[in-house]
Amino acid sequence: MAIKLETVERCRAAFDVLSILLDREPSQREVSKAAGASSSTVSSVWDELTADDTDDGRPVQVAASRSCLCCRKPFPSRSAGHRICPRCKALEAWQAGVADFAVTMSL
Ligand SMILES: [Zn+2]
Repeated sequence: MAIKLETVERCRAAFDVLSILLDREPSQREVSKAAGASSSTVSSVWDELTADDTDDGRPVQVAASRSCLCCRKPFPSRSAGHRICPRCKALEAWQAGVADFAVTMSL
């Protein structure tokens, strides 16, 4: 039986929200409960939710645990483009913009 796109999207949204709330990758059971989907449904879309790349190598927008580009610690990232952890984004230096990250050199 084919799974409705709407159900896949609901599972993905639940996965993303839970990743952020729990600060780790959620279990299939947690996603199933949050999305209101059966465990067999979540199980069949699980690879899609946790995969980093599609079969043809294109990046897909899926949540996964990735290393923060700022502090290098793993965090639940929403997509391949989401690479700064919430803790680092809360830092004053990040919020002040790129200028504060500049390196100065005296000769
Ligand atoms: Zn960080």
